[in-house]
Amino acid sequence: MSLKLSAVKHSFALRTVLDGIDLELPAGRILALVGPSGCGKTTLLHLCAGLLTLRDGALENLYARPAVMFQQPRLLPWKTTRDNIALGLKAAGLPRAEWQLRAQAMGHAVGLDAEALDQFPHQLSGGMQSRAALARALTLEPDLLLMDEPFSALDIGLKAQLYRLLLEHQSARKVAVLMITHDLMEAVRLADTILVMAADPGRIAHRFTLDAPAAARDDDFVHRTTAEFLRHDDVRASFDLPPLAAAEVGVTEGNPRGTGGTVVELDRKRSNEC
Ligand code: ATP
Repeated sequence: MSLKLSAVKHSFALRTVLDGIDLELPAGRILALVGPSGCGKTTLLHLCAGLLTLRDGALENLYARPAVMFQQPRLLPWKTTRDNIALGLKAAGLPRAEWQLRAQAMGHAVGLDAEALDQFPHQLSGGMQSRAALARALTLEPDLLLMDEPFSALDIGLKAQLYRLLLEHQSARKVAVLMITHDLMEAVRLADTILVMAADPGRIAHRFTLDAPAAARDDDFVHRTTAEFLRHDDVRASFDLPPLAAAEVGVTEGNPRGTGGTVVELDRKRSNEC
């Protein structure tokens, strides 16, 4: 089971926004796409989801049950949270008692209580809406989950909870996940493979593979690995950071001691902004 793209190119009118994209996503793996705004991450995800027609290159998707989680929760305002979570289950023709039970169980799993499940989207906070969107995607028991910046609007505590939930669900069911994030630290925390993209045209500038299981990565691992990745000039360029030599000069100028440790600290700080 896999999703495979080779030599994918995509243009809007005369403008090429993606060029020479090769990637493979086997079952049970998490692949993160990171890169600057406008480099074509969403376009690539939409091609994978079949929401855009592929015109150039090859795309083979052998997954049977893909689910997409968009940047915005996109809940239906006239339906309760429970009914929103159950949308796919109802569409699949499940009996009422069963979809209610499953929607409720998944709602609870993402931290929505009975009151929140009975409320309408406008009565929920942004974080609760994101939880509901995640629950809606997971109730479909997807074998491929395509996520466009699913956690970007959440505070740090809620992010940590949803990371845990996603990883538990993903590893238990061997779900393949393709996720977009602007946050390199988030990618380092969750992904097995990270594709750093560059813009004009959108292309893959650097690939990283992480061997440590995501559940075993602690804050120290995430900080150290992110700082290591940010020592590559092509990765720095994708995040609009100066080449390392220039950054080190800057640090040395700003800090007479100019230690290597300071450079890592600088990278840590900047990686929070990516
Ligand atoms: P962001 O991180 O800001 O969401 P992105 O990396 O996901 O950006 P895309 O949304 O894929 O980038 O857009 C890539 C480029 O294609 C951008 O320049 C965008 O303006 C352009 N683009 C996206 N959709 C269309 C469209 N439907 N018609 C024309 N141009 C488009």
